[in-house]
Amino acid sequence: MGLFKFGSRRGIGIDLGTANTLVYNKKTQEIVLNEPSVVAVERETRKVLAVGNEAKAMIGKTPDSIVAIKPLSEGVIADYDVTEAMIKYFIKKVFGNTMFMPDVMICVPIDVTGVEKRAVLEAALAAGAKRAYLIEEARAAALGAGLDISAPTGNMIVDIGGGSTDVAVISFGGTVVSKTIRIASNNFDNDIVRYVKKTHNLLIGDRTAEQIKIKIGTAIPLEEEESIVVKGRDLVMGLPKSVTITSEEVREAINDSLMQIVSCVKEVLEKTPPELASDIVDRGIVMAGGGSLIRNFPKLIAQHTQLHVRLSEEPLMNVVRGAGLAMDQLDVLKKIEKAER
Ligand code: ADP
Ligand code: MG
Repeated sequence: MGLFKFGSRRGIGIDLGTANTLVYNKKTQEIVLNEPSVVAVERETRKVLAVGNEAKAMIGKTPDSIVAIKPLSEGVIADYDVTEAMIKYFIKKVFGNTMFMPDVMICVPIDVTGVEKRAVLEAALAAGAKRAYLIEEARAAALGAGLDISAPTGNMIVDIGGGSTDVAVISFGGTVVSKTIRIASNNFDNDIVRYVKKTHNLLIGDRTAEQIKIKIGTAIPLEEEESIVVKGRDLVMGLPKSVTITSEEVREAINDSLMQIVSCVKEVLEKTPPELASDIVDRGIVMAGGGSLIRNFPKLIAQHTQLHVRLSEEPLMNVVRGAGLAMDQLDVLKKIEKAER
């Protein structure tokens, strides 16, 4: 059977994230690329000028004739041509123009449409892949977090990315119950911008908000309050100004978004068949994705579900590793879409 030989083929996993795209080389078991999911395009001609790091560095610093596009920023493939250019660029960057092109397992958000899926598969083939497969994010995240999803046992994974949160219960190689919401880590940044504007009359940029979130963000109150000095533009005077923001303020700012994610987890739990729910009581919930790195987030979910919740080992790497691992488990994984040259 072809599948057995397949295990030894050259293969890469690609995590097409809303924030970052990662590529994992199955053979060396290494992450060989990790760049922002950004493409710089000439406005008039739609010509692609730069991809990844280079494109991100151009944001806000180029003439109006150049636009930076985040093709996946809403968690969906919003701009197909640009997505294709990005996939091609990343595959070429890793493999060059070799004759032995790899098999590619690409990870897409759970609610991508059929048309978008075909588009991604075609883009991978056009970029030189021999065979291209798709796996949804939650299953890849579960595999990459080290869960054995092939057994008939319920596993719950909560993957919080930049643009979307995927919650899924997986058993016997397939997804049994799942839900995706467009509330994720980018929302925390927006919440912080809005809060600082409202309470301090200070306008700050998205990058600053992200820094605040990473440095002092927390999902439940800290025993010892932390604070950070933030610079921005005073909305009343119009001049640069700095203010001190506390961890409690940040928590207050992001609380609604945090709770929407908690509700999503609860909703999926409520829809989980009893036998699998009982497995989750035993095994707990695993969190993945950059958004799960907000301090005490696992604790918050544990408080609201009365379940054991743990953070995976490398939350930003789970999906891409899982995509790589999935290539060796095609026989046990249900419903993997495939395209071949
Ligand atoms: P995606 O899969 O959508 O590309 P990722 O899983 O890569 O998203 O997560 C990206 C998000 O994680 C960003 O919003 C980023 O701000 C956030 N993030 C990264 N590191 C941390 C951290 N240490 N604390 C809080 N948030 C973080
Ligand atoms: Mg992701």
